[in-house]
Parts: sequence; C-alpha cells; structure tokens
Amino acid sequence: MAGIKVLRGGRLIDGTGAGPVAATIVLDGERIAAVATGGGGWPDDAEIIDASGMTVLPGLIDCHDHMAMHGYELARRWGLDEPQSTRTLRTAKVLERTLAAGYTAVRDAAGLDAGFKRAIEEGLIAGPRLVLSLAIISPIGGIGDRTSPSGFPCCGPQDPLLPDSVVGSLADVRPAVRRMVRAGADVIKCATTGGASSRPQHGPRDGAFNLDEMQALVDEAHALDRRVMCHALGGRGLRIAVEAGVDSIEHGCYLAEQPELLERMAERGIFFVPTFAVYDYHRKSPQPHVRERALALQEPHILSLRRALAAGVKVVAGTDAGGHGHPANALELACLVGAGMTPLEALRAATGRAAECLGLERDIGTVEKGKLADLVVVDGDPLADIAVLQKAEKIALVLKGGAIAANRLPRPDRS
Ligand SMILES: [Zn+2]
Repeated sequence: MAGIKVLRGGRLIDGTGAGPVAATIVLDGERIAAVATGGGGWPDDAEIIDASGMTVLPGLIDCHDHMAMHGYELARRWGLDEPQSTRTLRTAKVLERTLAAGYTAVRDAAGLDAGFKRAIEEGLIAGPRLVLSLAIISPIGGIGDRTSPSGFPCCGPQDPLLPDSVVGSLADVRPAVRRMVRAGADVIKCATTGGASSRPQHGPRDGAFNLDEMQALVDEAHALDRRVMCHALGGRGLRIAVEAGVDSIEHGCYLAEQPELLERMAERGIFFVPTFAVYDYHRKSPQPHVRERALALQEPHILSLRRALAAGVKVVAGTDAGGHGHPANALELACLVGAGMTPLEALRAATGRAAECLGLERDIGTVEKGKLADLVVVDGDPLADIAVLQKAEKIALVLKGGAIAANRLPRPDRS
C-alpha cells in the first residue's frame, strides 16, 4: 500500500453532489494526494491504474446495517440454530463481501460487537470501517426487549460485549448509555416506536420512552461524544425523538404525517435514514401483522422521503440488512431512486452525506485531496443505471485507505 498510485481515465463522481468530471486521482499511501482534471504531475515509478471507460466513486457507506444478524426467524435471530463460532465466521464473511462490493464504511445499527472492529483493524479479517452501536436501548416492551411470542425472555447468558439494553425507568437511562460506551459503542442506538417486525401491539406508531427519558439518553450520549441514532417510524414516539434532539431518525416512515418535524430536522441538521429495502422483504413476511404493517407504510414512506427532500432534510442511505439476509447494500440506492431521488442524490446519500451522518466527513465520503483513499471503480454508469452497483462483477476495483480490497479489473496496467 506504500507508494504512489495514479487512477486515470475514469469519470469521477466525487460524492459532494457535483456531476461527473474526467479526473486523475493521485494516491499517496492511504490518502488522496491530488485530484486533477489535467494530466501529469506524478513520479515516473508511480503505479498507474487504468480506469478508462469506468466510473470512479468514493467508497460507499451504509448508515444502517446489522452485519451480525442473519435472519428474522426466532432461533436464528437469537443465535440458537448454530454454534457461536460458526455464526462469528458467517459474520466475518459478510464483512468481507460487503467491502468487496464497494462498501468501505458501515454503521452497524445493533448486533455487531467491538471484537469485529478490532479484528479488521488488526488485519485478521477484511471488512469496512465500522461505526458500532452494539445494542438497541429501549424501555421494557420496546424493540430492544427480547421476548418471544410466548412471553419468555431470550435464553442464554448476556454477552458483555452486547450489554443489556432494556431500561426500566428514567434512572436506568444514563447507565445504559455508559454501558454501551464502555463496551465500545461509537454511536448510541435507541428506539422510540415499534416497527414492522416487532411484536403484535407494538407497531410503527406505538411509542416507547417518554420525553424525559429520551432527553436523558441524548444528553448522556452527547456528554460522551456519541451521536444518537433513533429507530422511530411514526406517531408520538417519532415526535419525542426529534424533540429530544437525536442525530438521526432511522426508518421515519410516517414523517410526512408531522410536517413540523421535518422542518425541525432540517433546521437542526437531523439526518433521515429511510430504509426501503427491508420493507420490500417484510411485505412478503409469513407473519400477518408484519406483512400488514409493511404494506401500510409503503406509500407514507415514499411520501416522507419526498417531503423530507423538499424541506431540505439531509437524507442518507441505510439498508437495514441482516434480518432479511445480506443482499447487495446498493439495493437501497435503487429503492431511493425508485422513491423519487435522482441517481446523483442517491449516490451522495451513500457517500458525502453519509460520511456527515457518521461524523467522519473529515476523512471519508468524498474524493478530495487529503481524504482517505477509499474508492470504488465501477464498470458502468450508475447515473444511467443505479442498479449496476448491485452487480458484484461490475465493481471493478475497491480501495480502502489506498490498499486494494477487491480487484476485478481486466488487466491492471502497470507502466
Ligand atoms: Zn435496523
């Protein structure tokens, strides 16, 4: 990874929202040394990578994934159907594949413990840069409370790397946040409503947490320099999340029902992470209550995206993968375009804007001098066909910090 690499001949979409330009990108070690629209200006012994006819993007970012989850079926969800070691290796494979697909950074919205991040940083396994939340803080009966349909709690010992996230009262809120941070959380995940797949009687507009509890949660997280990502679909719980000042609203399917919340999100810079791909899956769920909820929220979710864009809310891409398997994360970008974003907006939602949502905009998200050399070379034009990003064989080259993470270029051209 040492030395100068020059990526030339490609059409660059830099992640700032600007349109494509012909550009040469000079990489020095793990960072971008120059982005030039002219030629020349690198040492003779630089490694030349020919990207002629291809599109160069910043490394893609998924703001909402569950990389250690592998299904919604209860035994699978609770990790009862296979040995822990098998499950760990399965997760490692997902991390490796996700990086090879061009996703160089992922915010995990619960389930992935800090050991995976350490393994990637130590070079034991390949994977994206990770921003971890560990577990979902919610009150008793909320979505972080693992109780079976028969009323029994989840079996098995509590994993100290995924701390107990069920809060009994206001006094329990701050300790829950501190436990997450102690175990390695980079961001605090919480939930103020049910969702499509939560238990019957705890649906998308059913609340969890009161305002004083959420204010304590946000205050403690911010005091520990952690952002708050909040699962909130609609109703009172959604309002409480915005009022408490969380940093991103996850799912947000019924935001359009409360336009004043969209205004407030735009004012305060609260990000909106719609998650369309997962509800396509839930609309085919074998469980009637899940299917009904996912069907009911489909149109409101699209409307919420459109109203959010019109109100100037920053929208970023999140797959909510894991429970519905690990499809190409870029599936969500096609969903965003289908719901009304332009392909350029969708790309920004998974690059420059996404880096801002993660608080990593100084280092990643756009192709600019001084940033980390996280880059994807695509054999195709995502502005003409956003779905090209879902095709593994079209992801020609992936660089993470200047190091080659995947290379399907026909013939790397050395000079
Ligand atoms: Zn999720």
